[in-house]
Amino acid sequence: MTELRWNPTAREWISTASHRQGRPQMPTDWCPFDPGSGRVPDHYDVYIYPNDFAALSIPAAEPAIKGDDLYRVRKSYGKCDVVLYHPDHYTSLPQLSVRHLTLLVELWRKRFVEHKNTRGVRYVLIFENKGAVIGVTMPHPHGQIYAFPFIPPRIGRELSSARIYHRRRNRCLYCDIIKKERRDGRRMVAENGQFCAFVPFYARWPYEVHIMSKRHLAALDEFRPKEEQGLAEILKWVTMKYDNLFNFSFPYMMLMHQAPVRGNYPYYHFHIEFYPPHRSKNKLKYLASVETGSGAFLNDSLAEEKAAELRATPPGTREAMEMQDRKTQGRGTKVGARALVTSCKCWLRNPDFLRPWADTKGER
Ligand SMILES: [Zn+2]
Ligand SMILES: [Zn+2]
Ligand SMILES: [Zn+2]
Repeated sequence: MTELRWNPTAREWISTASHRQGRPQMPTDWCPFDPGSGRVPDHYDVYIYPNDFAALSIPAAEPAIKGDDLYRVRKSYGKCDVVLYHPDHYTSLPQLSVRHLTLLVELWRKRFVEHKNTRGVRYVLIFENKGAVIGVTMPHPHGQIYAFPFIPPRIGRELSSARIYHRRRNRCLYCDIIKKERRDGRRMVAENGQFCAFVPFYARWPYEVHIMSKRHLAALDEFRPKEEQGLAEILKWVTMKYDNLFNFSFPYMMLMHQAPVRGNYPYYHFHIEFYPPHRSKNKLKYLASVETGSGAFLNDSLAEEKAAELRATPPGTREAMEMQDRKTQGRGTKVGARALVTSCKCWLRNPDFLRPWADTKGER
């Protein structure tokens, strides 16, 4: 029911998971991620929840079909986590305090290290899909982590570009991009001591924003405490701007790009990419024939203009963002969550939390 199939024409793995078709429609009056659901602890701040309909698993299921020389088949070995950002059902990332978001960054780092130490895992992809237009059925604030047994193709392409650039110039491609963006300024959106956020020169989406660490680091496990807080701060800042842009909760795909967990990639540089599907308040950008079939993107906007728009959207300064942060401190904790860092392994120790909620549907 689940396996990896090799596409020899594109040289990439396709993950098939036919059991995911059976994902039930989420009931509207019940959420497994809310304290009291029986699926999560009664008190948590941030929490790792095992994906009930994982495309990758350990141990992996037997492939449904036998492969051969041309059509290679591998087991879907790996892990899929759901990362709960907050116990409150209606809070989203920009509404969380910097303090709370720092706990999230810490949890990402800890889980990253756990996956790094898992045999057979080659790449840890941390991401968030937000909004119904992205296909998210669950409004509860959450992201996901996939621990892949291979390096995803887009990351592989960035790795080889960074390697070639480094070999030719003996410098980091991303450090040079950051230097250029900061000097130029036209595409900058926000900046603090540790990170900068900008609409890339080569943006594919109108409101695409990349967040890059100012220090040359390859992955989360190299973060210092100050950088964890700095990342929390800039994530809040950028997503607040997104929400304020058209005065609604702005949908996006957020991808963390970091070095693979096996091998040596000193030339790669940690960054986060945001792809919001909106090209205006009421219009969406669709991935149509050219984008999907050829991989070439058409962007109907200028990165410089979109960056100016985002710069002008509040909060304009770090101080304004901090002021807003002080106002939101403690908000969303009405369920009585104490400020505790929930161990990422908590659910591993408590088998009750491992029951997929779909299996127990009849109990409700
Ligand atoms: Zn919920
Ligand atoms: Zn660098
Ligand atoms: Zn990237």
